[in-house]
Amino acid sequence: MRMREILIVGGGQSGLQLALSLQEHGYAVTVMTVHSPEELYTGRAVSMGVMFGTARAAERAYGLDFWEDEVPPLHGMRISGYTPEGAPAFTCNGRLARPAQSIDERVKMAVWLEVFAERGGRVVLHGATVTDLDRLATMYDLTIVATGHSGLSDVFPVDRSRPTARMPRVATAIAYIEEDPRHPDPDAVGVDIVPGLGHVIGWSGFSVNGRCRMLAVTGAADGPLARLPRRVTPEGHLDVLLDIIRTHLPERYEAYRGARLADPRAVAVDHANPQVRHPIAQLPSGRSVLGMGDTVVVTSPALQQDANNASTAARLYLEAILAHGDRPFDEAFMRAAFAPYLDYAGPFTGQVAAHLHFNPPYVTDYVAAAERYPELADRFVNGFDDPAGLAAWFTDEAATRALVAEAENAAAEPPLAHA
Ligand SMILES: Cc1cc2nc3c(=O)[nH]c(=O)nc-3n(C[C@H](O)[C@H](O)[C@H](O)COP(=O)(O)OP(=O)(O)OC[C@H]3O[C@@H](n4cnc5c(N)ncnc54)[C@H](O)[C@@H]3O)c2cc1C
Repeated sequence: MRMREILIVGGGQSGLQLALSLQEHGYAVTVMTVHSPEELYTGRAVSMGVMFGTARAAERAYGLDFWEDEVPPLHGMRISGYTPEGAPAFTCNGRLARPAQSIDERVKMAVWLEVFAERGGRVVLHGATVTDLDRLATMYDLTIVATGHSGLSDVFPVDRSRPTARMPRVATAIAYIEEDPRHPDPDAVGVDIVPGLGHVIGWSGFSVNGRCRMLAVTGAADGPLARLPRRVTPEGHLDVLLDIIRTHLPERYEAYRGARLADPRAVAVDHANPQVRHPIAQLPSGRSVLGMGDTVVVTSPALQQDANNASTAARLYLEAILAHGDRPFDEAFMRAAFAPYLDYAGPFTGQVAAHLHFNPPYVTDYVAAAERYPELADRFVNGFDDPAGLAAWFTDEAATRALVAEAENAAAEPPLAHA
């Protein structure tokens, strides 16, 4: 069989995971991307990148988990709620069936790109345009666009037939800070649900200078986060985040007072609301290219899904390519490759995203009940590694309340008498 030539445009989670795994199967892969490993490593932070069990297993299967022993495992999720006056209302702790881990993408992508090139992969450093895509698509058996949720994603039409979440625009601001023993949740994802703000999220991760604390504040873009100036130094960015925490979550402020950035470029801010696009873009010449990862399905950065989805997209596209043998990668192939990815990632782009960001009362009631019933906490937190499974009950108020009632009834039942 002739070696199949595949072009992947975009060297992020999905693009490089697919490139490295296709390489293992003997495909000739070219990656076109903007930044060199050096530029990635020394550039600004881009995300928090917490990866759950499914995504970690996909990386492990191809030996891409180079940091397995260095990155602190996150065994669960702690979720706390507060009254509008700021008093603690509840805290639940769910245990993840398989631990999560968080690696700064600057580290991961720099190393993956380097390893891909060392193993004989072709790397072209260039920001592709639509004209480039049109010309290049003739030279490869398959062209995949994995350039994230901005830029080239516009060539993939938005799928308006899908009901994406109706919700205010969301902002997410992150900073990696030096680890400190005062920080809460050394081995869990910590989430504080703060009325009038949104969420303050933190966990231990691994960055360019080793272990660090990853901190995110997320909420409505026109809420307290609107205080973040458009142009601000990284230190100024951290100061605003800390001041928002001091004002809206005084309970946690002590743990972060005086925090220092883990490196001089350890901040980022992002605005992304849920969106699903059609997987195929028709280029001006009529040729087709296939979209992958954030390019075609986005939820929202703070929901801890999109890097996991990008990984799952890479895994599913790999399976589709391998199963396709030497047949042409036509539009039927592209649609078939995308379908299982949409089944996996799509449900979270619906009302799940809105309900997780803006917590209607039944959601808060569920999480408050999970303080008393650990099985509710476990069910909820493991849903982050099973987005379609979570969506199946979590958006349905009656189904969610029924789970709480079931746990309450089971607890109220008298223990069985022993014979
Ligand atoms: C602040 C923040 C926090 C986040 N936290 C989490 C989290 O905790 N958990 C989680 O699961 N997800 C998280 N995410 C989302 C996650 O980072 C993305 O979903 C994931 O990186 C998407 O992978 P991708 O391969 O689709 O695209 P990306 O990783 O965005 O990669 C795109 C690549 O394409 C390159 N590129 C762009 N344009 C071009 C072009 N024209 N030509 C060539 N190359 C191009 C870029 O330089 C980049 O290398 C977060 C995102 C942000 C912004």
